[in-house]
Amino acid sequence: MVKRRLAAILLMVALSVSAVFPAVSAYATESDDKEASKVEAEDKEHDYEDTNRANKIQELEDSIKEKQDQIKKAEEDRKKIKSSITDIQSMVNDLEKEKDDLSNYVTKLDADMEEIQDKIEELTELISEKEEEIEQAEVDLKEAEQIQLDQYNAMKARIKFMYEKGDSYYLEMLFKAKSFGDMVNKADYIEQLSAYDKKKLEEYVANCEYVEACKLSLESEKQTLDEAKAQVEEEEANLDKLITDKKNEINAKSYDISNKEQAIKEYEADLAEQTAVIQALEAAVTAQKKKLLEEEGNLISYDGGMFAWPAPKYTRISDDYGWRTHPILGVQQFHNGVDMAAPAGSPIVCAYDGEVVAAAYSSTMGNYIMVNHGDDLYTIYMHASAVYVSTGEKVVRGEKIGAVGSTGRSTGNHLHFSVRKNGDYVSPWSYLGK
Ligand SMILES: [Zn+2]
Repeated sequence: MVKRRLAAILLMVALSVSAVFPAVSAYATESDDKEASKVEAEDKEHDYEDTNRANKIQELEDSIKEKQDQIKKAEEDRKKIKSSITDIQSMVNDLEKEKDDLSNYVTKLDADMEEIQDKIEELTELISEKEEEIEQAEVDLKEAEQIQLDQYNAMKARIKFMYEKGDSYYLEMLFKAKSFGDMVNKADYIEQLSAYDKKKLEEYVANCEYVEACKLSLESEKQTLDEAKAQVEEEEANLDKLITDKKNEINAKSYDISNKEQAIKEYEADLAEQTAVIQALEAAVTAQKKKLLEEEGNLISYDGGMFAWPAPKYTRISDDYGWRTHPILGVQQFHNGVDMAAPAGSPIVCAYDGEVVAAAYSSTMGNYIMVNHGDDLYTIYMHASAVYVSTGEKVVRGEKIGAVGSTGRSTGNHLHFSVRKNGDYVSPWSYLGK
């Protein structure tokens, strides 16, 4: 700081001297100090740009990391959703199978039902036949009973008549017989008559008993049929209930399946959304990475290597870096670089890898080149007769960037070589080796 202020004072002195004694000023080997402030300003601009770029890279890196974390989380979510879908799908498959089994069962039950209904129809028909037979048996029985009753009444009437008339009627009938044979016949008749009545009566009674027995048997058969029918009807009712239950179960399964399928659809929508989010994040990361690579490519860093001699083969130092006494004025002046005496047109090479940040002309520095080597390290080459590079160009150690000359405030052909570090001039010898 003290040095710089002193340099500024000296510069002012030098300027006022040069205004009073232009010839003396022209005699001065160099007056580079004025350039110092200018270069310093340019340096600050470059420093600012570098800091800005570094911040930008940091921001990009942070943003990429953040997005990569988001992607990781989204991927995890996606895995969870996928596994949920798989679980539900397997449930749906099970349900579908159960539903199929139930449907097959119901089909079988329907066939059983048909069989039972056929049986019921058959039994109903048999019962109705039996009922007709019973009806007929009842008619027959009534008829037989009537005949029996009539016969019995007729017999009773005849017997009553004979008793009332007494045996005289029989005797009379016998005496009136025309012959003995006739008489015998008549006697037989009477005898036979009562025997006939007796036999008939017995027949009718037997008939009645038979019809009654038939009727009872038919009724018993009908009861058996009724019982069978009731049993089959109960079976039918049970089967009907079973079919209804199974159909309800099928409906429940269908409902369950449709619910689960809806859930799968919703999950699939979630998955698609998640995938879209991941893809967007990945695209953003890719773009930012590309940008980062570009930025990093631009960011130069100095690895600490030694500089190349900027004026190859010309090692004679006509004016060294540091404080010196002005040959005419006798005042102390600071020389911010090393002057290398070399013939006009001899090559100026870049001391180290870097990027050209200035390739221009100034009235004091003449044609000059300033190179950024990263980490706040710059080299400056002055008084060139020719400049072969331009601002923004990448250069490497030993690359020819210009030719020695005597442009600007210079008294002869030479290369003025300065090194700046962290915003101040430093001894080039720290980098050149001596
Ligand atoms: Zn110089």
